[in-house]
Amino acid sequence: MNTVLVTGGSRGIGRATSLLLARQGWQVAVNYRSRIDEAESVVNAIEREGGSAFAVQADIADEQQVMAMFAHIDAEQGYLAGLVNNAGILFQQARVSQLSAERIQRVFATNVLGSFLCCREAVKRMAHPQGRGGAIVNVSSAAARTGAPGEYVDYAASKAAMDALTTGLSLEVAAQGIRVNGVRPGFIYTDMHADGGEPGRVDRLAPLVPMQRGGQPAEIAETIAWLLSDAASYVTGAFIDAAGGR
Ligand code: NAP
Repeated sequence: MNTVLVTGGSRGIGRATSLLLARQGWQVAVNYRSRIDEAESVVNAIEREGGSAFAVQADIADEQQVMAMFAHIDAEQGYLAGLVNNAGILFQQARVSQLSAERIQRVFATNVLGSFLCCREAVKRMAHPQGRGGAIVNVSSAAARTGAPGEYVDYAASKAAMDALTTGLSLEVAAQGIRVNGVRPGFIYTDMHADGGEPGRVDRLAPLVPMQRGGQPAEIAETIAWLLSDAASYVTGAFIDAAGGR
């Protein structure tokens, strides 16, 4: 059975992605940072539908925890053929002139360093000739294009860094049987906006979206699942904007 690691698979877009990938036949390693009940709820939902999943704790900003997470996955049955770098954080809306060094470092530690570390460990296992190949999807953001002025330029910059990781890594490993692609969601209904201090942000901004609405986590999951699947077998180094036309 092929295994996929979904970082931050316990809530929001990661939860929807874990559920969809399990329905498509993947064994899902549901990573979470601290809320074990949320991760176990995803695993239970997958098992109730007859799928296969297990929860795996790790703060992806911590290299030792990432190493332990991959060792845990190695110890399970199944070949790691997929990685969804989904875990990401942002903080209270603020201007650049108000940002502390500590905050910027925390954003980059999870969104950039964490994604790099997970890519590194996945590539070691997937790359030909030792590995059988695989696919990686990096969950970026439309903020990488817009810059998120007045809200979280630190977050936007971290997502732009993820996009450069996607481009560079896709070229490095294309001949080793690994595809690397990016998804840039727009305004999606999840708890993340509350972390920015505005739980109702998606509804406020929906009129600015050409499609006149926010997106659902399940709609992003579909895009991620397609890029991971064999249906996208000739697609690498590509980005899909799933942002309602924005
Ligand atoms: P969310 O609802 O806030 O969920 C975040 C998930 O990431 C949780 O499962 C959380 O686990 C996990 N997580 C956070 N920091 C982590 C760390 N250091 N190590 C491991 N896991 C960690 O977020 P979301 O809105 O679904 O966002 C998912 C991804 O989509 C993010 O990369 C985000 O930047 C991107 N995105 C979201 C939107 C949007 O509008 N929502 C738009 C564009 C892009 P715990 O609960 O255990 O902490």
